[in-house]
Amino acid sequence: MRATLIYGAGDVRVEEVPDPTLQQPTDALVRVVHACVCGSDLWPYRSMAASEQGSRMGHEFLGVVEDVGSEVSGLNAGDLVVAPFVWADNTCDFCTEGLQTSCRHGGLWARDGVDGGQGEAVRVPQAQGTLVKLPVGEDSALLPSLLTLSDVFPTGHHCAVKAGVNPRTTVTVIGDGAVGLSAVLAARRLGAERIILMGRHKDRTDLGREFGATDVVAERGEDGIEKVHELTGGDGTHTVLECVGLKPAIETAFAVVRDGGVVSRVGAPQYPEVPMDFDVFMRNVTLTGGVAPARAYIEELLPDVLDGTLEPGRVFDRTVTLEEVPEGYRAMADREALKVLIRP
Ligand SMILES: [Zn+2]
Repeated sequence: MRATLIYGAGDVRVEEVPDPTLQQPTDALVRVVHACVCGSDLWPYRSMAASEQGSRMGHEFLGVVEDVGSEVSGLNAGDLVVAPFVWADNTCDFCTEGLQTSCRHGGLWARDGVDGGQGEAVRVPQAQGTLVKLPVGEDSALLPSLLTLSDVFPTGHHCAVKAGVNPRTTVTVIGDGAVGLSAVLAARRLGAERIILMGRHKDRTDLGREFGATDVVAERGEDGIEKVHELTGGDGTHTVLECVGLKPAIETAFAVVRDGGVVSRVGAPQYPEVPMDFDVFMRNVTLTGGVAPARAYIEELLPDVLDGTLEPGRVFDRTVTLEEVPEGYRAMADREALKVLIRP
């Protein structure tokens, strides 16, 4: 089969790799129908040191089950399924607490002999716990939105949940990438009525308004902070959802959060330290967030996607074939595309 590998910064290739086979009785084989490129895939795309053997890529996919191991029940060949971006047994103590990203028998896609999602097929470990069956056919127009349940929509949702967003909280979302826009959609879904979106790409913030943002702040740095203060009577918002992952974004977050408020971050932080100094201490600001246990949220978010109430798949603005995946990475890295859908 064909799959995507990265060999270094800017060097993504689609190559022939061995066909996946069932290795454990808990495995399933899935033929990939839709996959996509994640903002976090762009970190190695921008900075990875050149390597001889290359690494498989992709952790977001949905597809059709082709075969299951002897210990997998509840899944059959022909089922359409979505996979969260971390595989897990969904039965251990962490999983039962809703923290499948810490599963005692789980792991990440595209490493340690596990396939990546950006390919024609995937061997899925812990298939019964990992995969969620979708009650639609593979020709459904809902597939792009259902694919976002792999990562980007639950990640935005997790950010809002950890922040404690509810109908009484005002919200600032930092970042107009696919995660930031998903956070807007999730905050609205949780009942927030005032959502300030900080982002400077008009086409993206326009979608953010359709997702529920009530105000858009295009300015960055001090100007952006001042603007949020102007909009909130000088106080800032109860919650701030940091969906960028760079130092200036977390600095802005602490500057626009209201005293006693919560900063939640999901933007795969690329900074080692957070600016929680004495001033932040005196303001009783809480920092939370972290990697999203997407598996914990799929059943909760699925009905709103199935009935068309929410269309998180609108973050996809370009579709490529598997052979065109390198071009998809380039388009996302150059910010020509917001999020790229792959149809192998
Ligand atoms: Zn587990």
